[in-house]
Amino acid sequence: METPTNITDLKTAFEYKNNRELKFTWYIFSLIQHPKLVKILTYLTDFGIKHKLPIKTLIKKTVFKVFCSGENVDEAFGTIKRLHKFNVKSVLDYVSEAEKSNDAYDLNTQKIINNINTVKEGTKSDFISLKMTGLEDPDYLTALSESQFFFAYKRFGLLHKRIQDICSAAAQNNIMVYIDAEETWMQHIIDHFAEEMMLLFNKQKVVVFNTLQMYRTDRVQYLKELIEEASKKGYKPGIKLVRGAYLEKETQKAVKEGKPIPVFQTKADTDRSFNDALDICLAAHDRVCTCIATHNEESIQFGLKQIDKYNITDHQSKVQFSQLFGMSDHLTFNLAANGFHASKYLPYGEVEKAIPYLMRRAEENTSINGQMGREVKMLGLELKRRNS
Ligand SMILES: Cc1cc2nc3c(=O)[nH]c(=O)nc-3n(C[C@H](O)[C@H](O)[C@H](O)COP(=O)(O)OP(=O)(O)OC[C@H]3O[C@@H](n4cnc5c(N)ncnc54)[C@H](O)[C@@H]3O)c2cc1C
Repeated sequence: METPTNITDLKTAFEYKNNRELKFTWYIFSLIQHPKLVKILTYLTDFGIKHKLPIKTLIKKTVFKVFCSGENVDEAFGTIKRLHKFNVKSVLDYVSEAEKSNDAYDLNTQKIINNINTVKEGTKSDFISLKMTGLEDPDYLTALSESQFFFAYKRFGLLHKRIQDICSAAAQNNIMVYIDAEETWMQHIIDHFAEEMMLLFNKQKVVVFNTLQMYRTDRVQYLKELIEEASKKGYKPGIKLVRGAYLEKETQKAVKEGKPIPVFQTKADTDRSFNDALDICLAAHDRVCTCIATHNEESIQFGLKQIDKYNITDHQSKVQFSQLFGMSDHLTFNLAANGFHASKYLPYGEVEKAIPYLMRRAEENTSINGQMGREVKMLGLELKRRNS
């Protein structure tokens, strides 16, 4: 097996973007690398939504265009097909975080199930992502996570059915489901569902993945116990590894409530925990299917090194790499070009419902040391290369 020596080749990275798209992306990324500007824009967006100002078009033509694949599934499919020409797979991600009603949660469930059926028929994509906050109110998920007796509630039964219906449709159609991770205070119930769905659907092959945020101090231990438990119960765990998107929120809440901080306090500790988890998963590749979900080049290089170390010749079916749409194209496209399983998380949905997702991307991109700088630099270099 050959390890790619270069996962940052510019031509491969941006081949799917024409000059206009490349310039536009560079422009947007240059803007959102300034924290103060993002703060002002975030405030104005919040203000605009609250006062029902017509800001939808502005958002749709700027950040939405860079980070989302469309307002409806047909638009998203256009992107899926385009990516597929470069051997890049897609994780269809219906974004609907801003709603709070049973009808909306049922409708979201139905949309995701319809997507599973359409994805199977119309495209070569094999994945969908599942965000629990699209199926229930975050406050309710938090209450369930703190309760010992959640099985007794009727509302719990409805949520359970939504999740099982989605996973069952996925299993029948050979589609894999990444269950996203949320804040610690609602994660307990998400882990509970993810483990139950893995037990139900991951017997022969991996259908359901749980997401582990490695900035959490307890997750390496959780991972070890999960793998052991899965072996005992006879299922194959699907593990998606991320660093975690809610660092500041987690710290602030714990400090405010006088509780122990559940996340590491240094980036180096999070990096170490991410690599430890990656090593544990790849060492157990005979049982575990791993998704390395990161924009961090060193983590990707480490993953490639461990694939070699453990001689995982059938890595296409056991190890997946994934990046968010609009970010780190150099990694996704070069990994795919070098024969690795690489995908883009592909959010789509109505602009209004995608706003929390977009806010997270903008804030995250300004707060992550170096991430935006790297993106702007790569885009700038490619523009220069094309013009020379
Ligand atoms: C395909 C995909 C799916 C994702 N799904 C989820 C999901 O389900 N749930 C979720 O929460 N996130 C998810 N994320 C986002 C992810 O958790 C990270 O926020 C994001 O990817 C940045 O981390 P990185 O590994 O790419 O890059 P890096 O730039 O190397 O790492 C940045 C991350 O390091 C951590 N960090 C930064 N500073 C410190 C510090 N001082 N102390 C401790 N830790 C620190 C934070 O987690 C920060 O986000 C997903 C990301 C991808 C690519």
